[in-house]
Amino acid sequence: MSYQAPKGTFDLLPPDSATFLAVRAALSAPARRAGYAYVETPIFEDTALFARGVGESTDVVSKEMYTFEDKGGRSLTLRPEGTASVLRAVLEHNLHRGALPVKLWYSGSFLRYERPQAGRYRHFSQVGIEAVGVEDAALDAEAVLLAVDAYAALGLRDVRLLLNSLGDRTCRPAYREALQAFLRGLDLDAETRSRVEINPLRVLDDKRPEVLRQLEEAPLAADHLCDDCKAHHEQVRALLTAAGVTFEDAPRLVRGLDYYTRTTFEFVHDGLGAQAAVGGGGRYDGLSESIGGPALPGVGWALGVDRTVLALRAEGVEPAVDDPVQVFAVPIGPEAVGPLFGIVTELRRAGIRADLAYGGRGLKGSMKAADRSGATRALVVGERDLADGVAQVKDLTSGEQVAVPLTELVARLQEELR
Ligand code: AMP
Repeated sequence: MSYQAPKGTFDLLPPDSATFLAVRAALSAPARRAGYAYVETPIFEDTALFARGVGESTDVVSKEMYTFEDKGGRSLTLRPEGTASVLRAVLEHNLHRGALPVKLWYSGSFLRYERPQAGRYRHFSQVGIEAVGVEDAALDAEAVLLAVDAYAALGLRDVRLLLNSLGDRTCRPAYREALQAFLRGLDLDAETRSRVEINPLRVLDDKRPEVLRQLEEAPLAADHLCDDCKAHHEQVRALLTAAGVTFEDAPRLVRGLDYYTRTTFEFVHDGLGAQAAVGGGGRYDGLSESIGGPALPGVGWALGVDRTVLALRAEGVEPAVDDPVQVFAVPIGPEAVGPLFGIVTELRRAGIRADLAYGGRGLKGSMKAADRSGATRALVVGERDLADGVAQVKDLTSGEQVAVPLTELVARLQEELR
């Protein structure tokens, strides 16, 4: 009998797993430097939170949720995204009654029942930020910049930033109607026609050529913004320009989630084929009220860790990852195991990355393991060395070997490997 990881999922194994960890850390680093604090929420929530907070009419809610009933008869859903959960936590714990904005970042697994393909999985990993409680264009610009800096720090060159404004509750309704009136006149299939009635902005996101062709003349949100939304958007653009950020105005950019208002942005990478979005976000001033909270503005993003790794690979960029072990200890004979085990422990406590050949493999097999480990030094110790109170320190690059007194070993290696 053998099992495989479920469809649409994959195991993260060495050495690639080190890249994932490095990417996760790099994606959140700029936010951590900007006052965002870590938040962790449960991997499942009441189904209603996502139905309300993401929107019944979105694909995420209508088609992609992992929903189940627990033994107590509650309807729970594995989280498909992070924003609704984070905002739920902010409201539940009254963080919004403290200093504003509440700035939070998160990192974790998200689950969507999607059709798996390259870059699209059922279990994937995101790093995200949310800044809640303040309506300020500078906060939108900060959010965008933190993502721009994260990609830049990883060494990604071909990420494009697409920027749009979707308006707010003042101007969006009129735009929505204008768009609906236009879309009703098109030749669309039944499913898309019903989407026109429920969530017309999403129709602009349709990728099918026969639909795209008909959308060329569609009214755009940018032409229907009220004065406040226009001023907000201009300020975001000006701050980003002043910060040296290159962006493309993307008047057709909408987000798959209902709660976005005003600033909307997406990062795309052209080396990824169909699943080009490496991250996205925007302002969601309507979300709090839609999940039963007070009026509370917010802005944030979620960056896909998996796709960022794919983008790095597409560009041939290797992020700096944690180094392998520096020292590999090889006991010759069972008497050497105990003393070397002690030495390895001492080395690790002194900050040196060290490993030991386990399993009594013999010298040849153990030296092979030392080579494979990536260590630059092998510590070879046999019965005679123990009697002499020394360890043989072998430089695995040059092959040179010297006997070092055990009493000086840790200090010597610390010095050499600094
Ligand atoms: P979203 O929450 O849909 O805005 O997604 C934000 C980012 O998460 C996207 O830009 C992707 O990089 C990543 N992402 C979303 N869904 C998936 C998925 N099914 N598989 C892999 N990455 C995903």
